[in-house]
Amino acid sequence: MATPLSADRLLAALRAEGVTVVEHPGWRTHDRNRAGAWGPVAGVMIHHTVSTGTASSVALCSDGYAGLPGPLCHGVIAKDGTVHLVSAGRANHAGGGDPSVLRAVVTEAYGDRPPVPREHQGSSGAVDGNSRFYGFECVNLGNGTDPWPAAQLDAIERVSAALCRAHGWGAKSVIGHLEWSDWKSDPKGFGMPGMRDRVQKRLGAAPAPKPTAPAPAAPRHQPFPGAAFFRSNPSSPVVTAMGRRLMAEGCGRYQVGPGPRWSEADRRSYEAWQRKLGFRGSDADGWPGAASWNALKVPYTK
Ligand SMILES: [Zn+2]
Repeated sequence: MATPLSADRLLAALRAEGVTVVEHPGWRTHDRNRAGAWGPVAGVMIHHTVSTGTASSVALCSDGYAGLPGPLCHGVIAKDGTVHLVSAGRANHAGGGDPSVLRAVVTEAYGDRPPVPREHQGSSGAVDGNSRFYGFECVNLGNGTDPWPAAQLDAIERVSAALCRAHGWGAKSVIGHLEWSDWKSDPKGFGMPGMRDRVQKRLGAAPAPKPTAPAPAAPRHQPFPGAAFFRSNPSSPVVTAMGRRLMAEGCGRYQVGPGPRWSEADRRSYEAWQRKLGFRGSDADGWPGAASWNALKVPYTK
């Protein structure tokens, strides 16, 4: 479960998912928080309004009615796919429901459908859904024949995905009211398992192109190759680069210029470098160590 999104973050999450949002006047502070808890939240619940017309449905969902004060959801999803935000807090949409369903949503451990609900508002084992779920009311008569336009279904998918993405949930955190309460039939006219498939597919897709990270820059200096490297009689451009740096430091003890094959001349040159740094005794035996190597700043060669 998670801390509910602030109004600003809710709005930003929806817009980032490509939702066309309309902010109903006063929505940011319109809630039922004085009547009970809001959060921690576990998921998203989808409903139908049993009404027609966007404006009147939004007004109803914001105001509520005698016996059920508004807000009745967080957002109203119109038939044209616009989403009208009416609350950012506790809303009267879910009512009491089944604790086993809540558990299934929290763990997202179920197959196509959560367990069949056996509780409802007012029943003895019911738990408060209004504190646990974001709610979205979709404008539809709920008679099974009122059409669900593609734009509206697309908005349901995007709204659900936006909240899942914001909270790190999978699509199984999205349920219909009928999956929460054995008294309810909404949403009617499309299946929640299919909608969850759509949401999960959207979540699986890249959310937004991320800025390309710059390729890590090559180090400016050759990292210390390790003491064993020099004892292995190496032939390497690293040895040549080292010799050139020793020459530049006035420590070259070469008869001919430095080459790739580690030699006694390299050892004697390196010993001069160690002495120049102040090392003495076995610390100035000509065999490179990390401290003197890093001080030499051999240019990166590979
Ligand atoms: Zn409902």
